[in-house]
Amino acid sequence: MALERTFSIIKPDATKRNLTGAIVKKFEDAGLRVVASKRIHLTKAQAGEFYAVHKERPFYDELCEFMASAPIVAQVLEGEDAIAKNREVMGATNPADAAPGTIRAEFAESVGENSVHGSDAPETAKTEIAYFFSGLELVG
Ligand code: UDP
Ligand code: MG
Repeated sequence: MALERTFSIIKPDATKRNLTGAIVKKFEDAGLRVVASKRIHLTKAQAGEFYAVHKERPFYDELCEFMASAPIVAQVLEGEDAIAKNREVMGATNPADAAPGTIRAEFAESVGENSVHGSDAPETAKTEIAYFFSGLELVG
């Protein structure tokens, strides 16, 4: 399996509860390396553009409000099979369904406020990384 990069967000519910380090540790323990990271506070419009794929879903407006409610940490994670590995460490979208030991099982508050985002495929990883980072900010 080739070395791969994926995009990750530590969401407002987690940054507010001071869980940034605990969540990064989960990624690092799983063999993923943080090769870019920044803490930023999105506007609702920026959150809406990032999540545009969900704009017809009933939870879209609430999701955009939530993502703009406090700072996030945007990150690029690198490792073997990083896209799938990140999804595995994150756990299922709904924390009630997330496997024990996953980030969402341990930290998520609800299906909406679920602590982390992770790209779901190579194409989305590429687009999402480019939305938040320039090539110069990917430092290995
Ligand atoms: N979401 C929500 N209600 C739902 C499904 C999703 O509020 O019923 C939110 C949740 O924050 C989720 C995000 O929308 O992480 C994107 O949904 P997706 O299905 O892509 O889940 P993910 O890829 O984050 O597991
Ligand atoms: Mg998704």
